[in-house]
Amino acid sequence: MARTQHKVLIVGSGWAGSTLCSNLSTTKHDITVISPSPTTPYTPLLASAACGLYDFSLVETPVRHESSPFKFIQGKVRTIDFEKKTCRCRPFFSDLEDERFELSYDIIILAPGCLNQTFGTPGVLENACFVRNVADAMLIRQRVADCFEKASLPGRTEQEQHDLLHFVIVGGGPTGIELSAELCDLFKHSFAKLYPHLKAKPSIAIHDVAPNILSVFDAKLQDYALASFSKRGVEVVTSSHIQRVDADSITTVEHGRIPTGLVIWATGNRCTRLVESLPVKLTPRLPRIVTDSFLRVYGKDEQILPDAYALGDAADIQDASLPTTAEVACQKAEYLAKCLNKGHEAPFKYQQKAVVAYLGQRDGVVAGDEHNLTGQRAWMAWRSKNFWWTRSWRQKVFVVVAWALDWLVGRGIAPV
Ligand SMILES: Cc1cc2nc3c(=O)[nH]c(=O)nc-3n(C[C@H](O)[C@H](O)[C@H](O)COP(=O)(O)OP(=O)(O)OC[C@H]3O[C@@H](n4cnc5c(N)ncnc54)[C@H](O)[C@@H]3O)c2cc1C
Repeated sequence: MARTQHKVLIVGSGWAGSTLCSNLSTTKHDITVISPSPTTPYTPLLASAACGLYDFSLVETPVRHESSPFKFIQGKVRTIDFEKKTCRCRPFFSDLEDERFELSYDIIILAPGCLNQTFGTPGVLENACFVRNVADAMLIRQRVADCFEKASLPGRTEQEQHDLLHFVIVGGGPTGIELSAELCDLFKHSFAKLYPHLKAKPSIAIHDVAPNILSVFDAKLQDYALASFSKRGVEVVTSSHIQRVDADSITTVEHGRIPTGLVIWATGNRCTRLVESLPVKLTPRLPRIVTDSFLRVYGKDEQILPDAYALGDAADIQDASLPTTAEVACQKAEYLAKCLNKGHEAPFKYQQKAVVAYLGQRDGVVAGDEHNLTGQRAWMAWRSKNFWWTRSWRQKVFVVVAWALDWLVGRGIAPV
């Protein structure tokens, strides 16, 4: 019997890749997903998981599941020949790193996301933690616990305890802000009871090179966030230029050496090596793959490449730039699945949703279409967003159980 299915190759298993493969018709398409990661992290829930609100199994989902008849390959695409419709790939296992294999496709969908942006700051890769996947969240939880245990060792001076318990978050965007908020909650509740001898010693500082924080919100909500952090003793250091990060300190142009127990680096995105090396048109900033409003990839010569699409953080639409968010990635993935399943022909149109950030202690900010929210109502909006980000009913139930346990008995803060 003649083959009627198109061979679809999806590069990446993040929000874009996973949403796409769960919406693409498997009767019409023979789908293969290739990614170094066998899971999809629920990034909006990572800060809470790092600080003990959620169990780590709740904040990611395996790419493979019983009801999905698509193939998964744990590997990385290295190069793509858009003319021959083939990719050179390698397995993503340290003991197989010299192996290579080739994959052919009828349609390729590029969703390799981005990497952490360090701006080349010395010492960041070696000494700071990031917050991009579950392994990062686990490391943060471990290192926070280590700081408290080191500060509790016999013979520690007051100054050593203050230094070990000074936590620096670099980046005043929603990720850095939510992590600071969650750390603040963790210290004020669960850790205050566990480490009564260290009471009043933990401190949190958010550093940002920009003159303000939460630049995606308007000035009124930014001021509200600043006042809320100030009330809780979280220091916000704007226009701070970090020169280097060492194991026990950061050095800034403005304030010199600042001792710290842990630096968490949340300063945004840079592009992957794959995107950098592709023979496609790239945006000047970041850079990202340029597509038209049907998500089709432009070649370097401004011609549309045959059967190649791109979405998620790694791509942007020509003259209609959108932010690097899961919201955009998922909407584009649903749109593209509809196009490929049914031959839908209208261009992609983004539906702007409310932007939400948690500030700690049941406080938050929401920038909505019609009106903004602050305080407890914003916190409730943020929590309900947490709920909707999870995909299975099992996870939804356990998210609600985690909220109830947090309220009744505090957080599960055992290091991993
Ligand atoms: C802590 C945090 C909190 C966030 N909170 C929110 C939020 O509340 N709301 C919101 O809308 N957005 C949020 N975001 C942003 C959101 O997570 C991203 O926009 C989203 O993950 C982008 O999806 P993606 O599929 O493009 O990329 P990713 O999710 O980064 O996935 C890319 C995938 O491609 C794989 N890959 C990379 N290179 C290759 C290669 N060469 N070959 C094969 N596979 C490859 C990667 O391993 C990964 O699996 C948050 C991000 C972070 C880090």
